[in-house]
Formats: sequence, C-alpha cells, structure tokens
Amino acid sequence: MIAKYTDLEGKVVLVTGGARGIGKSICLALASQGAHVVFNYRGDEAKATALAGELETVGGKATGLKFDVTDYEAMTKALDEFTKNVAPISGLVNNAGISKDTLLLRLKPDEISSIIDTNLKGSMMVTQALSRNFLRAENVSIVHMSSIVGVMGNASQAAYAASKAGLIGFSKSIAKELASRNLRSNVICPGFIQTDMTDALNEKAKEEYNKSIPLGRFGTTEEVANLTCFLLSRASGYMTGEVIKIDGGLYI
Ligand code: NDP
Repeated sequence: MIAKYTDLEGKVVLVTGGARGIGKSICLALASQGAHVVFNYRGDEAKATALAGELETVGGKATGLKFDVTDYEAMTKALDEFTKNVAPISGLVNNAGISKDTLLLRLKPDEISSIIDTNLKGSMMVTQALSRNFLRAENVSIVHMSSIVGVMGNASQAAYAASKAGLIGFSKSIAKELASRNLRSNVICPGFIQTDMTDALNEKAKEEYNKSIPLGRFGTTEEVANLTCFLLSRASGYMTGEVIKIDGGLYI
C-alpha cells in the first residue's frame, strides 16, 4: 500500500541507485504519485529503457541518468545537462550504496575507500552538485538512505556503519545551512530490508536476525518507499534534520 501525496504530482525527484532494490521501489512509488522520476543507474541501457517504460506505465514521467556516484565529473555533467535543459530538481534521494561485511582486522584500505566514496562522499557530491539548482527549485526535500547500523554500530560493518553515521552528520549540517533556502534534509535508517543486499545472508543468519526483530520479519522495499514519499512531500513540511528508523523495532 502506497499512501498518496498529491503535491508529489509533477515533482522532479532524483533517486540515485534507482534501478533495483530500495531505489527501484522508491522510483515506482514516486511514479505512481505522478512524479517526474529521474533515476540514476550504472547498468545497461536496455534495462534502463525498460525501467523508464515501467515507471511511465504506473503514471509518472521518467528520465534515466547514467553515472557512477563516485565519478564526480560524469555525475556533474549529467546533472547539469538535465537541470539546464529539462527542469530543476526539487527532490533528491541519496540511495546508492554498497556494503562489505568483514572484521576490522581484515578490512583493506581500498575497501574502506570504496565504501566511504560511494555511501558518504558520493551522497555529499551529488547534493553539492545540485545545490545551485536547489536555489532555483521550490520545496526542496533531500532524503539520505543511511542504516540502522549508522546509529547502533555493528560488528563486521565498521566502514559501512561509519559511512552511514557520516550521512547523519552531513544531513543535519545541511538542514541548518540551507533551511533559510526552503530546503529540508532528513535521514532514513532502515533495518533489515529484503533486497539483493540482504539476500546475500544465508537462511540460518536470517532466522537469527528475525529473532532479534520485535516485528519478527525483514521489512519490504515498499515500506521504505512509503516513508521516503512522506519525507519528500509537504506532508512532512515541518521536519528537517530528522533521523527516522524503519527497522521493525530492531533498535528500541
Ligand atoms: P542493493 O544492493 O539492492 O542496490 C544498491 C543500488 O545502489 C543499486 O542500484 C546499485 O547500482 C547502486 N549503486 C551502488 N554503487 C553505486 C555507485 N557507485 N554509483 C551509482 N549507483 C550505485 O541495495 P539496497 O536496495 O538494499 O540498498 C539501498 C540503500 O539502502 C543503500 O544505501 C543501503 O546501504 C541502504 N540500506 C539497505 C538495507 C537493506 O537491508 N537492504 C538496510 C539499511 C540500509 P548497480 O545496480 O549498478 O549495482
């Protein structure tokens, strides 16, 4: 069930890592509200064309932008072209992310770099690249996809947790810096959500995790998408600098 937010109709929203997982569900939820979904992807063009068709079928307008969030030059070029030639972007979902679960002792410097570069620096760079555009847009709302481990920490996820905790500091800072420009910035901290990222866990591990979640199950990507739509909409117009958990009670 996706709640309806009428002000999202026609809103131009960029979703990074929008081709699968949580990002794809967010794109579909936004499209079903009639938004213009600008989905970022890295994969093949045929899949992106198919996704654009899917988004338009459910009621939205869709534009695919191909870039890697760690490639600042390519990302800036794609976003500049879009905002100059098509429309200002007034919603941003910094969703693209990677994880690498391993003990701190085994974590290699290049693994730390790629996690921080994608999850934290990538989100900061996309936000910065759009900051001039945001001054021309109305009711700007930014949503950063952090993680519950960014708040509570987790063994074997030191770099990932650090990158996600960094997003919280970043979001709170720009919430203060840009509030006078009518820009809001909030963070979502999902717990375990059913996607490729958690499919990598074996069944025994999933059963163990379910025991520690009061609601007794992993969340769905649609549940995260619903919260994202709320934060992008004026329905959450008095909320900024917030950090919202969606974790079935995992971290109470
Ligand atoms: P998936 O692994 O299913 O998808 C990740 C998405 O990010 C893919 O679209 C991927 O693109 C994209 N991506 C990764 N690196 C880059 C990059 N350098 N440039 C552009 N796009 C990139 O992950 P989820 O959907 O599960 O997770 C989405 C977000 O939610 C992540 O930030 C994750 O950390 C966070 N999260 C997820 C949780 C979960 O339980 N699933 C829990 C807490 C947080 P491609 O297809 O090209 O690889």
